[in-house]
Amino acid sequence: MRVVIKVGTSTLTHRTGNLNIRHVEELCKVISDLKNAGNEIILVSSGAIGMGVGKLALREKPRDMPTKQAAAAVGQCELMYTYDKLFSAYGHVVGQILVTGSDLKNAERYINFQNTLNRLLEMQALPIINENDTVATEEISVGDNDTLGAIVAVGAGADLLILLSDIEGLYTADPHTDAGAVLIPSVTELNQSILSLAGNAGSELGTGGMQTKLKAAGICMDSGIDMIIADGSKPLLLYDIADGKPVGTRFYGRK
Ligand code: GLU
Repeated sequence: MRVVIKVGTSTLTHRTGNLNIRHVEELCKVISDLKNAGNEIILVSSGAIGMGVGKLALREKPRDMPTKQAAAAVGQCELMYTYDKLFSAYGHVVGQILVTGSDLKNAERYINFQNTLNRLLEMQALPIINENDTVATEEISVGDNDTLGAIVAVGAGADLLILLSDIEGLYTADPHTDAGAVLIPSVTELNQSILSLAGNAGSELGTGGMQTKLKAAGICMDSGIDMIIADGSKPLLLYDIADGKPVGTRFYGRK
């Protein structure tokens, strides 16, 4: 299976912006094992700005663009340093790809991106992709990594996109505030009643929320790719997904 796994800031860092060691260590271990089992994996990782906040000891997520970009420059190094160290321990080589929205819209650069991605996979390396936040101002940014994950899944011809998040999946209501909220295990059509469940939100340090996840689902489903939203605090769920067990919410690609 060729699988794109997108991991959000809320999974990788604590609210302080410091690394969530338990989550990240477990995640790298499971991904290494899934690669050992023969799966082709591409990681789309957020966390640059969040980890920059931690590393620079800022009190909160910056609001202005230059400070966000400076935090991303610092945090991206920290992120890749952490991944390189942890994946190396399991014998895996990582490669960093940073893209902007305009890179993905430009036909020539998009093909270059696909070529690099495919060659890294052929060489058994693990591509780790993020938006190039240091240059991606609003007009040229993808904006959130849920959408980036979907674009990557399409570009890579993946079988599946997994969005690891701070929520277990799509619920009938906000489970943080409504005790009666029920998890929706599968979605075959993004109709109005599903889209109306999006709310807005997003976590303190991350960018996305359910809206961006449903947008990502739309992109995947239109391209015949399945997408799963699963709880990022439990990386072991990736084994269940690989075994075909029901986890979180699965959006079925149009076949
Ligand atoms: N690219 C941003 C970062 O690495 C995150 C975007 C997102 O959370 O969707 O901090």
